[in-house]
Amino acid sequence: MILGAAGAAAAALICLDPGHGTPPAVGRQTEPIGPGSHVFKIKDGGGASGEAAVALAIARRTRALLLARGYRVAMTRTGPTFRYGNGGNIARAQFCNQHHAALMVRIHADGSSSSSLHGVSTLVPAWHRGWTDDIYGPSLRAGRAIQRAVVSATGAADRGVVRRSDLTGFNWANVPAVLVETGFLTSPAESRLLHSGAYQQRVARGITAGVAAFAGR
Ligand SMILES: [Zn+2]
Repeated sequence: MILGAAGAAAAALICLDPGHGTPPAVGRQTEPIGPGSHVFKIKDGGGASGEAAVALAIARRTRALLLARGYRVAMTRTGPTFRYGNGGNIARAQFCNQHHAALMVRIHADGSSSSSLHGVSTLVPAWHRGWTDDIYGPSLRAGRAIQRAVVSATGAADRGVVRRSDLTGFNWANVPAVLVETGFLTSPAESRLLHSGAYQQRVARGITAGVAAFAGR
């Protein structure tokens, strides 16, 4: 490739992390929630029923839209199974760290014992010295932009931006990171939407618009 006289800055890389898909024997293993932590959590409880497939479908649509806008994209998994590194949330963060991502976007869907809960929320790292102090500000900015854009693109209820101190995949990230809970699979109406290609595309458009608002382009 030959660059023009002015050159061209490398396009920002967005790291997409569709949640779950860990083999159960690996998922039940534990890992520290942050560097040096004595608090351990399981790597992957499997998520809500059907969540791994919905998250992957939305991530693949988001990848296509981001590539069309000129971003580079890396995905922690492109098929049903997550296999990178030791298979946990530390590995998901390390994957995005090693790609020097401008942003890590974790894609999930929610579940609740109440079938009436519905809507979209975006989780961001809480501030923790030595873990997230370097990514707290940009992660919050990205989270606000993505939450606004996904609510706007889908018309879903706005459950807001939520700071979380207990998420391993945030506490090991050295790049800005957010986690979009794209809706509740335990809500019959929202589950129907989340399984439809048309609605997945609206979610993907929202995530892409939010990324663009944060990262430019
Ligand atoms: Zn999940």
